Amino acid sequence: MAKKESLAFPGSGDLLSQIHFDSDKGKIWLHEQRMLLVHASGMGLLRKELIETLGVRRAQGFLMRFGYHAGWKDAELVAKVRPDLSKKEAFFTGPQLHGIKGMVNVRPVELDFDMDSGKFHGVFDWIDSYEAEEHIQEFGPAEAPVCWTLIGYASGYTTFYMGRTIIFKELECAGRGDAHCRILGKPAEEWEDHAEIERLLLPDPIAEELFALRHELSELRDNFRDSGTNDDLLINSVGQSGAFRNVCNLIRRAASSRVSVLLQGKPALARRSSPAGCTIVRTAPTSRSSPSIAPAYRQT
Ligand SMILES: [Zn+2]
Repeated sequence: MAKKESLAFPGSGDLLSQIHFDSDKGKIWLHEQRMLLVHASGMGLLRKELIETLGVRRAQGFLMRFGYHAGWKDAELVAKVRPDLSKKEAFFTGPQLHGIKGMVNVRPVELDFDMDSGKFHGVFDWIDSYEAEEHIQEFGPAEAPVCWTLIGYASGYTTFYMGRTIIFKELECAGRGDAHCRILGKPAEEWEDHAEIERLLLPDPIAEELFALRHELSELRDNFRDSGTNDDLLINSVGQSGAFRNVCNLIRRAASSRVSVLLQGKPALARRSSPAGCTIVRTAPTSRSSPSIAPAYRQT
C-alpha cells in the first residue's frame, strides 16, 4: 500500500497551461480536445429533468455514462500532457483535472495499483462535490449517494488508465448528509454487484421501448374502435325492428362470453341476422315467443 505521504499531487501548472481560450473563434481547448464552460446550475437542472423524466435509476445510468465518457477522454490525454511523469504520478492527472474543471476537490487517501498485474485499490475523499450540492438544491438530502457523473468519471478514467474495468462507488456522500464524499475503486469483479453496475454503464435505448409501447397502444385502440364499429354494423346494417335488436343484443352478450351458446327461435331469423365473423348455433326451438340464449352444443 502506498504511504499517504507519497500521495501528494504534482503541481497542476502544466495542466493549466494546456487550457486555451480561443474567444475569437468561440472555442475552449484542453490540449487537443474542445471543452465547454457551463453553469453548474445548468447541470443541476439537466439532472433534475432527467430524474423527473426517466426516473432515478435510468437517470443514474445516463449520468454515469456521461461522466464515464469524460473520464475516458481525459485519460487519453495523460500520456500527451505528462509524458515524463511516472505511471503513479501521472495517474493523478484525472483527479487534478476533476478539480481544475470545478467539479470536486479530490484528496487521495489510499492508492495502490500495478499496471502489469492490473491490481488496483484506491480511496479518495471528495470535498465540495458540485453534484451533491446541486442534488440537495433540487431535491434535498438523498437516501443514497448521488454523485453519479463524478463516479462515472472516476470509473471511466481509471478503466482507460489501467486497461481493465475499474469501478468506483461512494462509501460516503455529502448528498445524503455525510460530511463529504468518499469513494473506493477496485476491479469490477471484486464488487458483488458488479453486473448491475456494469449494466448501468451500457447504453439504455429507451426509444425502442417507447416505440413498442406506442405500437401496442395503437393496436389496442384499433381493436377497441373495430369492436365499436362491428357493434354499429350489427345494429344498423340489417334492420331496426324490436325482434332484430333483441337478437343483436343476444349475439353481443354471447360474443363476450367464452361459453358456447345457442340461439333459439325461428331458423330463418337466425340465419339472416348472423353478422360476419359470428357463429350462430341453432337447434330446435323450445319457445315460439322470443329468442333466448343458453349453454348448448355446436351444430353445423
Ligand atoms: Zn457524493
